[in-house]
Amino acid sequence: MSRITTKSCDVCRASCSVCYRVQYQASDRVVGAWYLVCPGCQLTLSDRNPHYRYGGTWKAKR
Ligand SMILES: [Zn+2]
Repeated sequence: MSRITTKSCDVCRASCSVCYRVQYQASDRVVGAWYLVCPGCQLTLSDRNPHYRYGGTWKAKR
């Protein structure tokens, strides 16, 4: 049994041992929603996206 903790991407639901915390949508609220996404989605979401903000990297602890 693996004890490695993974999270799942908020966009594609893939499990990821390394995820990125990002904002990628326009928001009229003071605090926008943060999403945890896999590296693949992070690339896709950041591409030509003026609303993209990077909030840190989450890594699974082994
Ligand atoms: Zn994803």
